[in-house]
Amino acid sequence: MEKIRYFDNAATTKINDEVFRTMLPYLTIQYGNPSSIYSIGREAKREIENARKKVAQLINARTNEIYFTGCGSESDNMAIKGVAYTNKDKGNHIITSKIEHPAVLNSCKFLEKQGFKISYINVDENGVINLQELANSINESTILISIMLANNEIGTIQPIEKISKIAKDKGILLHTDAVQACGNIPIDVSKLGVDMLSLSGHKLHAPKGIGALYIKSGTEIEKFMDGGHQEKDKRAGTENVASIVGLGKACEIANKNMTEHVKYLEEIRNYFIQKIEERIPQIKLNGDRENRLPGNANVSFKDVDGGELLLKLDSKGICASTGSACSSGSSAPSHVLVATGLSDEWTKGALRITFGEDNEKEDVDYLIDSLVEIVEQIRKNK
Ligand SMILES: *Cc1c(COP(=O)(O)O)cnc(C)c1O
Repeated sequence: MEKIRYFDNAATTKINDEVFRTMLPYLTIQYGNPSSIYSIGREAKREIENARKKVAQLINARTNEIYFTGCGSESDNMAIKGVAYTNKDKGNHIITSKIEHPAVLNSCKFLEKQGFKISYINVDENGVINLQELANSINESTILISIMLANNEIGTIQPIEKISKIAKDKGILLHTDAVQACGNIPIDVSKLGVDMLSLSGHKLHAPKGIGALYIKSGTEIEKFMDGGHQEKDKRAGTENVASIVGLGKACEIANKNMTEHVKYLEEIRNYFIQKIEERIPQIKLNGDRENRLPGNANVSFKDVDGGELLLKLDSKGICASTGSACSSGSSAPSHVLVATGLSDEWTKGALRITFGEDNEKEDVDYLIDSLVEIVEQIRKNK
């Protein structure tokens, strides 16, 4: 098999070997139900609580403020719908942005059908939320602001601390989707000033199908799932013990390696951007040059179709993305790039490269050389 070079770490990440090894007993011999009172049940329960502590440590939360969920999307749904249902007598207005992940946008669309009013805040050309517009859109019925910490397509990091000041002034709850940020930049929930924060295992080298929601103690939100008493009655269902243990391990590793992780990704990402800006004419870096996730590069190539580019990269064993959710088949432009005001001629030639620690310098050089060759070829055949 040809060597696969993986540059799509924003889509998902490879499970870390140590994470995998930590999980294995809970898929084999340690199969006890954490709600059972005998030893293998109690052991499972203990390991869940140990993992909860590690997740909490990564974001500087208290252990009892972490709730395990089925994925990042579920965390977003739980936060937004949970706050909406609990506070529907106080108000029916929610503020979010135009560049959120579909898990947030479609939760809001669902609530709109139930009579909630949603304001979708604009962003500037770098993808940064318009704070003035956000402040102006607050009214007496505003119950929640949900703004992502970092964008999954263009990597832009939002000024959540400033948004928190605006929210706190008015007594409005603040949720942030930190699924992309978590494990990639240091996160401190008390410094950010958020009441809820979503994260997902498979974006930080834990398995798919496990997520967590931070809920600041004292914050009331409706439960997500009816059933047994798991997760303090907030999310019924027998716990996904192996994946929870894996998420805990991944958070511990991310916490330990944060400084080197950020440094390494920034180094190869900056090298990549510098080289392709030097070698390929008519390109544009999307997102904020400074305030962006360390591993993210989103670049538009003029007169190039992103879909065609992806296929040609794939034939060279390179995994990348156009960045938009509907990159497979559909030619709908990315809602994020459109929100930054990018015109058609640039949105259709967008490519998202998201680096990981497995990428070596030699892989990045291969990527750069391949891009130079393919972009020239596509442009010539136009
Ligand atoms: C991946 C992602 C999600 C969804 O997480 P899943 O675990 O795949 O459901 C939500 N928000 C952002 C920003 C993401 O990148």
